[in-house]
Amino acid sequence: MIAKQLAQVQEKICGACERSGRSRSEVTLIAVSKTKPVTMIREVMAHGIQDFGENKAQEIVDKTSQITEPLRWHMIGHLQRNKVKYIADRVFMIHSVDSLRLAKEIDKEAAKCSRVIPILIEVNVAGEESKFGVSVEETLPLIQSAAQFPNIRISGLMTIAPFVENPEENRRIFRTLRKLYIDIKTKNIDNVYMEYLSMGMTNDYEVAIEEGASFVRVGTGIFGERNYNAV
Ligand SMILES: *Cc1c(COP(=O)(O)O)cnc(C)c1O
Repeated sequence: MIAKQLAQVQEKICGACERSGRSRSEVTLIAVSKTKPVTMIREVMAHGIQDFGENKAQEIVDKTSQITEPLRWHMIGHLQRNKVKYIADRVFMIHSVDSLRLAKEIDKEAAKCSRVIPILIEVNVAGEESKFGVSVEETLPLIQSAAQFPNIRISGLMTIAPFVENPEENRRIFRTLRKLYIDIKTKNIDNVYMEYLSMGMTNDYEVAIEEGASFVRVGTGIFGERNYNAV
């Protein structure tokens, strides 16, 4: 089942790249494996996927202890400062930075393990009450302040678009994030590297790719529905 669903996702990614004149190599698929067991992750790995997304520090610790192959683990969920120390040496990138205090903590823990951790700033483009992330207006000031930290690499922006029936409704959200990304990139701020746009989930990743996504985060579309009661 996973092989077939993964193949369908790959096909749709290729289609979206073709429609928007982009090269497939510009888009990285992150398989969002939260709540899913190691056996399922191994099945996806067998098809060449090396990027996995998780939203809980504990789950990253557990899974990286069981799977020691060199994968890229992406922290995509809200991260509390007191959890950073557990994942600093295990994650490839943190997509969900939305405060200076969190950026500072990541910098501190990254220094302890002698690395520079790539981070993305999470932007709540739609201004939804229920979501984490900074507003569009707060993004540049946060980046300007966080640029002082030598052990993080500010690598781009991330957003979680609203859940909508028709993914077309989120096109303007993705477009807004891309515009913000370009605006900031143009400023050539020291120690700020606008390289990645993390946007698009199962429901809307094709539209996100058409609007410039470099990371799409797909869970349900690959692994099937999540059952939170089972874990
Ligand atoms: C769970 C999650 C996803 C994947 O969601 P699906 O709709 O299952 O594809 C993507 N991004 C974030 C931040 C998530 O928490």
